[in-house]
Amino acid sequence: MHIPALLDAIHAEVSEAVPHGLPADYIPALAGVDATKFGIAVADIDGTVTGVGDWETPFSLQSISKVFTLAMVLARDEESLWDRVGKEPSGNPFNSLVQLENEAGIPRNPFINAGAMVTTDHLASIVGDAAAELLTFLRAESGNLAVRVDTEVRDSEITQSDRNLALAHFMASYGNMRNPVATVADQYVRQCAIMMSCRDIALSGLFLARHGMRTDGSRLLTRSQAKRLNAIMLTCGTYDAAGEFAYRVGVPAKSGVGGGILAVIPGRCTICVWSPGLDTHGNSVRGVAALDRFTTLTGWSVF
Ligand code: GLN
Repeated sequence: MHIPALLDAIHAEVSEAVPHGLPADYIPALAGVDATKFGIAVADIDGTVTGVGDWETPFSLQSISKVFTLAMVLARDEESLWDRVGKEPSGNPFNSLVQLENEAGIPRNPFINAGAMVTTDHLASIVGDAAAELLTFLRAESGNLAVRVDTEVRDSEITQSDRNLALAHFMASYGNMRNPVATVADQYVRQCAIMMSCRDIALSGLFLARHGMRTDGSRLLTRSQAKRLNAIMLTCGTYDAAGEFAYRVGVPAKSGVGGGILAVIPGRCTICVWSPGLDTHGNSVRGVAALDRFTTLTGWSVF
C-alpha cells in the first residue's frame, strides 16, 4: 500500500465530491476558522508520518482531548473510575443533560461532556492539574514542544460554559465531583482549547495502535487497557453517530468540534483528519468521508 499516493487521491476525491460544510459556531474562535482547510496524516506504528493538505496546521483539539484524559486516568487508577462513569453509548448529543437524572449523576461514558468532566475530576485528584498533565504527555508523544493551549479559545469557551457548568453541578449534587466545579471546568476547557496539527495528534495517539506502548518504548497502558480504550472509541467516540460511523468506517475513532478526528487501526497505524465543517452530530463532514474512503480502499477496518 503506497500511503502518500493514497492520501493524495483521497484528499483530491473528497475535496471534489464532498462540500466542506460550516464550522462550529458556538464560539467566534471556532466559527472564524477557514472552512476550506483539509488535512490528513497517517502515523505508522514505527512513528513514520505521512500527510497531505493542511496536515501540519494546528487546530482546536476539543473533544479529541477526552481520549488522552481517559488514557491518563486508566494508566493510574482504572478501577475506581468505572464507579463514576459508564461505558455505554449515549445515543444523545454530547452535551445532553437528560440521562444524568435517570442515572443518578453517573454519565453514560467518558466521551460525552459530563463523562469527560468526571474523568478530568478523577485525574485532577491524582495529579493536581489534569490539563498540564495532558500537555506534557502530548508534547512528549508528538515531539512538538509548541503544543499549547489557545487562550482565545479557552476564554471564549469560558463565556459559553453554562451548559457544561450545569452538567458538572448536577453531578456534584449526586456526589460525583471530588474537586470544586470551577476547578474541573477550568481544566476541562483548557484541554479542549489545546492546539495541535493532524501530524501531532496522529503521533500522540500511536500508543492506541501499539497496544499501549509509548513513543519512548515505555508502557502507558496494558494491552487490555488499550483494547478497552479502543472499544470505547468505537462505541462512543463520534457522539450519537457512533453506530453510523462504525457502519461506514469501522475503526475506533474520536472526533472533536474543531473538525478533527483521530482514528486507530490497532497494530498498524493512526490516522488524523481535519476539516472544520461539521455535520449535525458535531463530526467533521469531510473527515468522516475521508476515513470512509481510507478504510474502503485499504481494507483496514477492524471488521
Ligand atoms: N468544548 C466543547 C464543549 O465542551 C467540546 C465539545 C466537543 O468537541 N464535542 O462543549
